[in-house]
Amino acid sequence: MSGFDFDLFVIGGGSGGVRAARMAAQRGARVGLAEAAALGGTCVNVGCIPKKLYSYAAHFADDFQDAAGFGWDVGEPRFDWERLKTNRRREIARLNGIYENLLRSAGVETLRGWARLDGPQAVQVQMEGSTRTVTARHILVATGGTPSVPHFAGRELVVTSDSMFDLDPFPRRLLVVGGGYIACEFASIFNGLGAQVTQLYRGEQVLRGFDDEIRHFVAGEMGKHGVDLRLHADVHAIEKTAGGLRVTLQDGAAVMADTVLYATGRMPNVSGLGLDTLGVAQGVSGAVKVDAHYASSVPSIHALGDVTSRVQLTPVALAEAMVLVDHLFGGKRRSFSYDFIPTAVFTHPNIGTVGDGEEAARKKFGEVTIFRSEFKALKHTLSGNAERTLMKLVVETATDRVVGLHMVGADAGEIVQGFAVAMKAGATKAMFDATVGIHPTMAEEFVTMREPVKR
Ligand code: FAD
Ligand code: NDP
Repeated sequence: MSGFDFDLFVIGGGSGGVRAARMAAQRGARVGLAEAAALGGTCVNVGCIPKKLYSYAAHFADDFQDAAGFGWDVGEPRFDWERLKTNRRREIARLNGIYENLLRSAGVETLRGWARLDGPQAVQVQMEGSTRTVTARHILVATGGTPSVPHFAGRELVVTSDSMFDLDPFPRRLLVVGGGYIACEFASIFNGLGAQVTQLYRGEQVLRGFDDEIRHFVAGEMGKHGVDLRLHADVHAIEKTAGGLRVTLQDGAAVMADTVLYATGRMPNVSGLGLDTLGVAQGVSGAVKVDAHYASSVPSIHALGDVTSRVQLTPVALAEAMVLVDHLFGGKRRSFSYDFIPTAVFTHPNIGTVGDGEEAARKKFGEVTIFRSEFKALKHTLSGNAERTLMKLVVETATDRVVGLHMVGADAGEIVQGFAVAMKAGATKAMFDATVGIHPTMAEEFVTMREPVKR
């Protein structure tokens, strides 16, 4: 391997890049990594972690109300946005330090600067006051993604999820545009924190791609919590007025807001990387095209995570990194299976899901059997909270295999994670039936649904 400065040079110190760099270094490779911003990438700085912390903050609004039915008088709760922001910043700075230490202790050389490809095996990093060109046998592009906002009059007045964590002041009226993960999560979070939230979605129902019943159910529950969801609605123009941002919709109606969040998808971070100069094949919005082992059309250049626009989730970027490192430095040529990837949407209440929705399963497997349970959680018999829970199993009739498991309810993500192991192992409905429940929990419903609701 002599002749190169590094065996592996990683561009991007986010979920996928840091994991690949650390694991490769632990296997004896000489590894360098360039990061232009804070270590930890989207997930740590402006994604999963701060989002979940704010989601916890928002849940307290319900908790204070729920407490009364259990005998607690908590007085008039008061929310301090500045305190939440300060505490979040402190925690994220701590995590940035942990990432730095992980890389250092693994022996990875970190270059703090913006990198671009300078050849199939060369990278140029622009650091403060200097530029360094390094050579590497393998290069990994793990540059992630960035929010994408469509063009319309007033586009410069909106913000993206990157800005939501530090808004100043707290938005009394928030308009959210989009119906995906980010739009639904932020609508729920800011609603819980006390904003008056309007959410616009251009289509028939939010969260396209999820089980239809789950989509309708969660939309209803978010509405009960106070989110004003408007379907078949989109923005025509936005202007600044003395009373705030005036948002004119396509149908001519107007909504006033203090902040407009555009959560209309993310696109790969490829601008200025030099991929085109080297002839690296790219797909929609510039996503790097890769094979099953994350090699691009230029064999020494690899890519994974959000920059490849496959499944944009942190655990997927981590898993892809492990496959790549095994392949390049571990002598193992294995591929990652994209089946049964569990996911949660941190709406209030949460969605937890793994496998196919009913509609997708019918297309894939033909005949399916549906089991479903909808109920008021035991906790809410005393809290008086009107929230309801939905749990659903999709079973391939011919094989009895559970091919979809879906939930809307408290801690759905925590519950579904465990069931995902069973699904990955090919569990049948008979195995679910043979499993003893834990009583009294909500999760036990998944192993006690006996009567199908439809076939
Ligand atoms: P990133 O983590 O984005 O890292 C890319 C890094 O590359 C960045 O640090 C960037 O600064 C750096 N970089 C880019 N270009 C260059 C360059 N030219 N030179 C040097 N450095 C560069 N996923 C979940 O699984 N669960 C969640 O709850 C969740 N919540 C989310 C909430 C939000 C608001 C968002 C936006 C995303 C969320 N995600 C969540 C998705 C998750 O954050 C991403 O899938 C994950 O971070 C992708 O990892 P990555 O390594 O591909 O890219
Ligand atoms: P999504 O792709 O999930 O959703 C984008 C939304 O914006 C869709 O509702 C889409 O509508 C809508 N949209 C797209 N273009 C326009 C437009 N021009 N005008 C109006 N609406 C538009 O993207 P997000 O930005 O929400 O999130 C990006 C990814 O990050 C997610 O897919 C997910 O992988 C990851 N993520 C994961 C989280 C988690 O695990 N909990 C949390 C947050 C993000 P339509 O459906 O009609 O196309």
